[in-house]
Amino acid sequence: MEKRWTLNDFEIGRPLGRGKFGHVYLAREKKSNHIVAMKVLSKSQLKKSQVEHQIRREVEIQSHLRHPNILRLYGYFYDQTRVYLILEHAPKGELYKELQRRKYFSERRAATYMSSLARALIYLHGKHVIHRDIKPENLLLGAQGEIKIADFGWSVHTFDRRKTMCGTLDYLPPEMVESVDHDASVDIWSLGVLCYEFLYGVPPFEAKEHSETYRRIRKVDLKFPSKPIVSSAAKELISQMLVKESSQRLPFNKLLEHPWIVQNADLSGIC
Ligand code: AMP
Repeated sequence: MEKRWTLNDFEIGRPLGRGKFGHVYLAREKKSNHIVAMKVLSKSQLKKSQVEHQIRREVEIQSHLRHPNILRLYGYFYDQTRVYLILEHAPKGELYKELQRRKYFSERRAATYMSSLARALIYLHGKHVIHRDIKPENLLLGAQGEIKIADFGWSVHTFDRRKTMCGTLDYLPPEMVESVDHDASVDIWSLGVLCYEFLYGVPPFEAKEHSETYRRIRKVDLKFPSKPIVSSAAKELISQMLVKESSQRLPFNKLLEHPWIVQNADLSGIC
């Protein structure tokens, strides 16, 4: 049986950060001495912003995942005014701050992150979960600098249609048969955008106006600046992920075999 946690089980320490709906604190589980990150969400804030379903989905999905590059959610509890999420502590904090500090990453570092993320997304998609919100703000760094996917607020669980629709498969139209793969490929696109941002320090379709960004995305208006200097192998990989036709995007298992990844990524995920 799963343990029912209460605030009494934890000693709350210094604040780690502040999110939209509450604060995150360093905390220690008293019995085991285990260090965790405690996310404290205000129920009234969640209600006001109508995101209760989003949090519930986040908890349901994230608590079942076990992967070195996915932030663990150990459990949750609540009292009258707050919801508490017991999360794995990521001691090196937010990836986007690291990117801000360095402006852009080396090819070795970028390839290592890409390889870790591709393996985490293969695992996730294997569980029929699509993250749908891969971006620097949702990535944290572990004690060794290894990347961790956090924030499953936008993720969805696509149920296994082959199992649930057993017997009625004959009547499914192509868009239903294909939709799981199709949906999952949104994460390939996001990973392509992320790879570009790692190497150039800015996202590929950035523009002054929102409407211009939309236009550039629709056209896949992908340009590679001359500086910083980036290898043609990296540019080729990005171009293979940022493809308009979703079925034509490079699958993650192929990404792992790409020469740029093979030659640059550190398989330990440490950088
Ligand atoms: P969030 O509400 O998830 O946006 O979290 C707010 C801030 O708290 C983040 O920007 C991080 O700086 C910090 N934070 C959140 N979760 C963790 C964690 N598991 N480990 C370390 N820091 C965290």
